Amino acid sequence: MNITRILAYRVELPLHEQTYKWSGGKSVNVFDSTIVAVETNVGLVGYGEVCPLGPFYLPAYSDGVRAGLRELGPHLLGDDPRQLVKLNQKMDAALKGHPYVKSGIDIACWDILGQATGLPVCELLGGRYGEDVRLYRAISQESPEQMAAKVAGYRAEGYRRFQLKVGGDPDVDIERIRAVAAKLQPGDRLVADANTGWVQHEAVRVAKAVRDIDVYIEQPCLTYEECLAVRRKIPHPFVLDENIDDLGMLLRAKADLAMDVVNLKISKLGGLTKIKQARDLCVSMGIAMTLEDSWGGDIATAAIAHLAQSTPTEFLFTTTDFNSYVTVSTAVGAPQRKDGWMSASRQSGLGVWPKMEVLGNPLVEIT
Ligand code: MG
Repeated sequence: MNITRILAYRVELPLHEQTYKWSGGKSVNVFDSTIVAVETNVGLVGYGEVCPLGPFYLPAYSDGVRAGLRELGPHLLGDDPRQLVKLNQKMDAALKGHPYVKSGIDIACWDILGQATGLPVCELLGGRYGEDVRLYRAISQESPEQMAAKVAGYRAEGYRRFQLKVGGDPDVDIERIRAVAAKLQPGDRLVADANTGWVQHEAVRVAKAVRDIDVYIEQPCLTYEECLAVRRKIPHPFVLDENIDDLGMLLRAKADLAMDVVNLKISKLGGLTKIKQARDLCVSMGIAMTLEDSWGGDIATAAIAHLAQSTPTEFLFTTTDFNSYVTVSTAVGAPQRKDGWMSASRQSGLGVWPKMEVLGNPLVEIT
């Protein structure tokens, strides 16, 4: 089997809540997502999706996905999409860095491998654990009162894991954490994710001001060294995210005891093949994970669901259903949230069928 054509479509994903805001005044109103189709000589077509959280979150941007595919795609024509490690080595040899560009192709090739073998991707990634996976809800950054007021509605949708977007003014962030924590019920979990937004002394101050609260602190500062310094001064369970973008950083953070939970995103690592390697290493090292992506719609959510559900339950801290945040559905068969949980498809591959009328004409065609 070999790759005969690669297509990329651009889809706009508006939000039910109109806007998503996080640290440093950053926000997105309409996500710009790229859906990748990998076609083969046997008629199988695999799909992947890459959706950066705007151009200012990770070193990734939407037009960069498409430009990168134009550069990378021609090197992959004729290659067997089922030989995923070999394919990833080829991608890394052809284009240095830019893991997010490679992610959509890699996901699409896992979809092809699943279709070719008649197995759901989660079973190929290691096995299906349990019936479903538990979701978190991100709470966009607003005033403490507005954020606290959102909790009841999200809980009514079944969510019991809440990720509070902080990383703003430290005094307001202390109020944000206190206001939301006051709305929690037994069994709920709260994460305060600063998304690199605090400088070191502010992070320590915020954490010490909420030391009586059962809250996880996620990625308080920009650099790994600042985060490590904060981690060593505060009592809360600690999550690293933006700094952990390859195996080297993961191993370094483990050696430094720098985290209790790590947030791994498919496109940040460069696809399912690479995130599987990091995920399996975390399981071996005893580190729980939030498994997700930067953002996305139905196809990204399907890939997330297969990754999450192939992870031993005790190591899956939480995961997310981005397709329920956005107003546009791009595929049939994607996971749908049920009472705060979702499950990976039992169909072969990712189990998604793109709505070609939503995708429109491809912006990239590699033949
Ligand atoms: Mg995070």
